[in-house]
Amino acid sequence: MTPPPDAFLHKMASLLGDDYSAFAASYAADGRRGLRVNTLKLTPADFSSKSPFALTAVGPYEPAGFLIGDEAQAGRHPYHAAGLYYLQEPSAMAVAALLRPQPGDWVLDLAAAPGGKTTHLAALMDDTGLLVANDVHTGRARILAENLERWGARSVLVTNNEPAQLAARFGSVFDKVLVDAPCSGEGMFRKQGGFAWSEEMVLACSRRQSAILDTAVALVRPGGLLAYTTCTFSPEEDEQVIARFLDSHPAFTLVDPPAFTGFQPGQPAWADGRPALSRTIRLWPHHFPGEGHFIALLQRRPDAAPATPHMLPPAPNRPSSGALAPWREFARDNLRLTVDEARLQVVNGRYLQLLPPDTIDPAGLHVIRHGLPLGEIRPARRGPALFKPAHALALSLRAADAVYTLNFSPDDPDLHAYLSGHPLLDSSLSLPPSSWLLITVDGHPLGWGKSVQGQVKNHYPRGLRL
Ligand code: SAM
Repeated sequence: MTPPPDAFLHKMASLLGDDYSAFAASYAADGRRGLRVNTLKLTPADFSSKSPFALTAVGPYEPAGFLIGDEAQAGRHPYHAAGLYYLQEPSAMAVAALLRPQPGDWVLDLAAAPGGKTTHLAALMDDTGLLVANDVHTGRARILAENLERWGARSVLVTNNEPAQLAARFGSVFDKVLVDAPCSGEGMFRKQGGFAWSEEMVLACSRRQSAILDTAVALVRPGGLLAYTTCTFSPEEDEQVIARFLDSHPAFTLVDPPAFTGFQPGQPAWADGRPALSRTIRLWPHHFPGEGHFIALLQRRPDAAPATPHMLPPAPNRPSSGALAPWREFARDNLRLTVDEARLQVVNGRYLQLLPPDTIDPAGLHVIRHGLPLGEIRPARRGPALFKPAHALALSLRAADAVYTLNFSPDDPDLHAYLSGHPLLDSSLSLPPSSWLLITVDGHPLGWGKSVQGQVKNHYPRGLRL
């Protein structure tokens, strides 16, 4: 790792005074690595009981969060492919934990990719209500959708837009809005190095952060919460952004955060001295087992303005009964699940998706994913159209939802063959031809296989293969 730039260290020395030597010494230690259990799929206790990695609880602020040693190994494990956890450093886990979305909430994650905090929000919401996850960069928004797919989340809308486009389309409908702002990343120097840092960059980030926040206000319902966070230490991107925000948006006030060990207050003196800034939170690498974050929780006054009424959900673009036949046949033969057909939508004439029960019309936005992709209706050369189930459907199921399952232990060589894209030979299987099997690891779905002439044809997505 390249050492942090001298100019950055001098700046921190002048800000931190006596505390600086402990801060600087923290750069000699390895970065903290963490893992957050997917509580949509299993409990932290269930995961702990079979974890292949040594786990240390991060603390009461996030009961599903653990410190781990070897992140590389954890990223390659079949449990990761099954979405049983997300690799996330512990201070990043504090953000959604403090925002505390409730089941049924409408939540917007405005700068969401790659999805660490989005997956956390989805778990805390118990995959109910509506979680809109947006990122302005198309490639990153696609990675965000992939991570949500592995997570098994259904009640999500993934968009790729400028914040102003979302504000114009939706208005103030969200109970909670998270702005995890693009920043100079000083809290990530220990893991990634700080080669691109400069004071100009800090100031440019600060201006961009204020612009994003100024747009975000229009999306928060009266009485709703706005969380602002960065993984950087410079006051220009932290306390000073919030001081400016409070000046321009008097309908918002800082919320008193809960006190957890290692959470330190923001520094009013590093901005304009207003005492309320001590309600912001700083997580420092020398006081907290994580890389560093700044968090501000702001509440919009309940009487600030009338809330924008929730717009009607999109009219389901439902296929005719005939076109739905391949899906119905697939579901009848392979799933033990009832799907509400009133929520089915067809995209581009062939992709079937299940809209969330409670949702919004994203017309005019660049939608990457809306609800749960079920699969593709494929015209056949001869005979009726066929249905190919989506990987996202597999990852959103429980093993009991599938008629045919093939289970492996995590270290079974056949499982590694499956994850590498090889067909599985299984003479013990006597399945009806063309049945779809849900391949599982310790009972947790990983993907699809299809029985074809005594073999299980591999349908694990090519882009994910080992
Ligand atoms: N929340 C993410 C997570 O926990 O995995 C990390 C988000 S990262 C700190 C900031 C994100 O902001 C980047 O993915 C970047 O593409 C996005 N971004 C950059 N400029 C933006 C803008 N003007 N409006 C919204 N998002 C922006």
